[in-house]
Amino acid sequence: MPNKNSKLLQVCIIGSGPAGYYTAEALAKEENVRVDIIDKLPTPYGLIRGGVAPDHQKIKGVYRRYEKTSLGERVRFAGNLEAGQDVSLGELRELYDAVVLALGAPKDRTLGIPGDDKLGVIGSAEFVGWYNSHPDFAGLDPDLDISTVVVIGNGNVAVDAARVLAKTPQEMAASDLAPYAAEKIHAAPISKIWMLGRRGPLEAKFTPKEMGELGELQNCITVTDKDQIPDLTEEQLAALPLVVRKNMVHLKAFTGNRPEAGKKTLHMQFYSKPAEVLGEDRVTGLRLEKTRVENGNCIGTGEIFEIGCQMIIPCIGYRSVPLEGAKFREDWGCFDNQDGKIEDRLYCTGWARRGPTGTIGTNRPDGHQIAARILREVTPGGRPGGAGLDALAGRRGLEIITFGDWQKIEAAEEKAATGEAPRVKFHRTRDMLTAARR
Ligand SMILES: Cc1cc2nc3c(=O)[nH]c(=O)nc-3n(C[C@H](O)[C@H](O)[C@H](O)COP(=O)(O)OP(=O)(O)OC[C@H]3O[C@@H](n4cnc5c(N)ncnc54)[C@H](O)[C@@H]3O)c2cc1C
Repeated sequence: MPNKNSKLLQVCIIGSGPAGYYTAEALAKEENVRVDIIDKLPTPYGLIRGGVAPDHQKIKGVYRRYEKTSLGERVRFAGNLEAGQDVSLGELRELYDAVVLALGAPKDRTLGIPGDDKLGVIGSAEFVGWYNSHPDFAGLDPDLDISTVVVIGNGNVAVDAARVLAKTPQEMAASDLAPYAAEKIHAAPISKIWMLGRRGPLEAKFTPKEMGELGELQNCITVTDKDQIPDLTEEQLAALPLVVRKNMVHLKAFTGNRPEAGKKTLHMQFYSKPAEVLGEDRVTGLRLEKTRVENGNCIGTGEIFEIGCQMIIPCIGYRSVPLEGAKFREDWGCFDNQDGKIEDRLYCTGWARRGPTGTIGTNRPDGHQIAARILREVTPGGRPGGAGLDALAGRRGLEIITFGDWQKIEAAEEKAATGEAPRVKFHRTRDMLTAARR
């Protein structure tokens, strides 16, 4: 008797972030494809839930699209299942015709300077995960009884971290900032936040909308140094990419700002390369070298200066975590692949494929391309797919969280919200599981 599943192409996607969902969305257009998206958390959507800033709910709204994919009959969410722990990649490759690594890049890149492991140096993956209720980081409990924070990086993650530290409770009222983080941040006596970049304003990676927000903070004045923002003619401005041009307008405006008594100051400083974290066990300051930029390259000038601070948040990029059975490039910080293919029947997409670059939308063509490649290259092999995964989970006593279970978690989080807040997120896996079982 032929196996009734023999014509179905069984695909497992590891990771339910944007890259995983865009891949599933494209695969699910084909009638003969069945997709299981597994995630180590009981909750889907990756950094949409645990990374994107809690006061940027509009951006988080993209999850509605992924929800649609999950509610279709060809895609299944299987949460609370960690590849490499609960189930090995080898086992998944036996159960499915193709496996896609969409694991993201959850580890911080380190500064790589003396003292970067001192207490008070907290990478953005940890810090952002903490204020976003990610179960891996909810226990971080940073010491915020401090006056000065240095945020290192000139991208939107640095802007997010600085803004969340700068905003008032009223400004965060419509957010889903973790209540334990809100309590700590809003009670913190922080008066000065530095945002440092090694290069200049023309090379910065943040986007104008995020820059604009820094000019509208209720209780924080954003300042830039006049001598660091070039005086460009109309013609020179017009020659710049639109994003840079718009950023320059904001940065120029900030040069006219002055610190105000009773308000926090966010000082954006360019041409500053971290050289050493100062302090005994705990951070007391940062030593830096002034730089100049030549042909896009950052060159140290030898001029050293110091900033006193009690906390440093490097926002300088991320790395993927290797998974046994998949080739990994230490130098890239992600999986070894050629156009998304690692080897036969094994693919990667999103940040696990290309590193931590681009926006949420960048993962769409990436996911769609991998889906097209799988449909071209892999034929159904009569593998058991989801039924096999369920049987394995049953044998191991693993509790798989379905999309229906997740919807119960989501409903409980929404019910717990008060005022303008959209939800109060669970930050402990056991509480999520309890809500799912209700
Ligand atoms: C702080 C921050 C803020 C951002 N803000 C914005 C923004 O405002 N706008 C924007 O366009 N982009 C933003 N981005 C970028 C955007 O979030 C990424 O482009 C996108 O999330 C990458 O998608 P991904 O699916 O590759 O990875 P992720 O979103 O990280 O998803 C990976 C998933 O894999 C799961 N996983 C990991 N390991 C395992 C395992 N072993 N087994 C099972 N599951 C596993 C994780 O739990 C996670 O759900 C932001 C990024 C960060 C870090």
